[in-house]
Parts: sequence; C-alpha cells; structure tokens
Amino acid sequence: MKVAVVGAGLMGSGIAQTFAQAGYEVVNIDTFASALEKAKANVDKLFDKKVAKGKITEEQKKEILGRLNYSGTIEDVKGAELVVEAVPEKIDLKKTIFAAIDEQADPDTIIVSNTSGLSISEIASATKRSNKVMGAHFFYPAPVMKLLELIRGIDTDDATYNKVKEIAGTIGKTTVDAPELPGFMVNRILVPMQNEAAFMVMEGCDPTDVDNAMKLGCNFPMGPLELTDFVGVDIMLGTMKGLYSGFCDSKYRPCPLLENMVKAGHLGKKSGQGFYKYDENGNKID
Ligand code: NAD
Repeated sequence: MKVAVVGAGLMGSGIAQTFAQAGYEVVNIDTFASALEKAKANVDKLFDKKVAKGKITEEQKKEILGRLNYSGTIEDVKGAELVVEAVPEKIDLKKTIFAAIDEQADPDTIIVSNTSGLSISEIASATKRSNKVMGAHFFYPAPVMKLLELIRGIDTDDATYNKVKEIAGTIGKTTVDAPELPGFMVNRILVPMQNEAAFMVMEGCDPTDVDNAMKLGCNFPMGPLELTDFVGVDIMLGTMKGLYSGFCDSKYRPCPLLENMVKAGHLGKKSGQGFYKYDENGNKID
C-alpha cells in the first residue's frame, strides 16, 4: 500500500519515516527542494546511527530507505490509498493543498491532516470528498511517540474513520478519539496546566518548586515549566490563546507573565532564557 506525506518538515519527514519502517511504500512531497534534501539527509543519518548501534542491519536500512521516496510534485499523491498532510499551520495554505490533493488523488483516497488545532471540517470543505477527510494528530518525534489523536470532521464517514484507525494500528500507534474542538485532547489538558504553573510563578512560587511538585508528586518526567521552556514560551502562549479564543471561556485566560516573557524575548531554551537559564548548548544553568 502506498502512502503520500505532503510536507517534509519536522513532522512530515518523521511521519514518512514511520510509515516506511512499518512496510509501506512512501512518497514524501514538499515544494521546497531544500526541505526534501534536509529530510532525506536527516533520515539517512538516523538510520546510519541505528546500524552503527546494531539496532538494525545494513540490509534492513537499505530495505526501509528503499521504500521512502521524495518528490517535489503534488501529482505524486496518485496511487496512494492514504495522504497525510503536514504543511505549516495556516488555514488558507491547508485548504489550497487539500484542494490540490483532492484533484490529483484517486477517488477513494483518504486524506488526513496533522493539524495541531485547525478545523478539520473547514479543511475538508476545500475538497469534494469531505467524508474521506479527518484529522490524525501525530506527536513529535513521530516515529517515537505512541499516540495518535483521531479527529472526525462533521462529514467524516465511519468507513474513513475505521480505515485510519486500522492503519494507525499497523504503524504501532495507539489512537484516542478527540473532539473537533480547540486543543483536541492532549493540548486541552496539558497547556492549561502549564499556564497554571506560570500563574504560580507570577504569584511568587519558585519555578524549581513548581516543577519538583509535579515531577516528584505526580511522577511527571518533566515539570510543566521545563516543558514550556522546551517547547517555547511563545508557542505555548499561542496554543493557550487558541483555547481562550476558541472556547470564548475565561477559564483559559493566558497568564500575563507569559505575555511579558515573550515581549522580553524570554522564549525558553531556544533563546537561552525562559523560566530557567540555558547555556549555548541548551543545557540548564543552575
Ligand atoms: P515545518 O515548518 O517543519 O514543515 C512544514 C513543511 O511543509 C516544510 O518543509 C515546507 O517546505 C512544507 N510546505 C510548505 N508549503 C508546502 C506546499 N505548498 N506543498 C508541500 N509542502 C509545503 O512544520 P511542522 O512542525 O512539521 O508542522 C507541520 C504540521 O504539523 C502543522 O500543521 C503543525 O501544527 C503540525 N504539528 C506540529 C508538531 C510539532 O511539534 N512541530 C506536532 C504535531 C503537529
């Protein structure tokens, strides 16, 4: 079975790798040659490491990479039973791409979006097959993270949902049914917790205490503030704003401290300062 992945960035390249590892014939499509080159180079390097560590043989590497092809044209979605879209999170761009995929793909092809929070129903409205469109939200890094959130649009039919769920099982993912509402499932629970942790720092709590509370009291591998620094304070704030505006509910009010941190350029690990300080290698400075 052939799978096409449109977008060869952080998520698309990992999703393409995931399908190739599971035995699917994959084409990873991107408009930018530089993105395709980078995706290929990263995957090649990763598999070289796997061979060097003895996790797979040179033969297995060749076999997997032989199933993973790269293309600069959307016409190559032809023949795919499933198309996974992973282009940037912009509704107009997603709708344009879905219309183009709809035109080129076979009539029975299912098209899923990896959107983190855009409306599946709106994306599907750009096609003439809205019953065969749904959300399939992978987590970073896609080959490693076991969860796949499935999101049905208003028109998604049972056959499409069942097929995507079945395919998810073949690539080793566990699915959850998330509502077509802001944040889907994981981010709706996780991000308000990170926001609440920021409120506690604003009220005078020590960031290390807040993180230790959740790591040692709840067995979290990473504290909510460490996670915010890791993801990016600006990214986390953007998701919180999406929940706030999407639900029109004050319970999702973004913490003002986050706004000030972003204005000050305290974006977390990537800027060297967030709730904690980091050196040039991204290591926390105590
Ligand atoms: P990215 O910027 O790393 O990659 C996007 C890719 O799409 C780029 O390579 C770009 O060249 C390509 N692209 C742009 N226009 C295109 C077009 N017209 N046709 C084909 N390719 C095109 O972005 P990303 O982080 O991989 O995110 C992709 C999607 O996945 C977004 O919807 C995002 O919200 C979602 N997502 C991201 C994460 C994450 O942790 N980054 C996690 C889950 C979901």
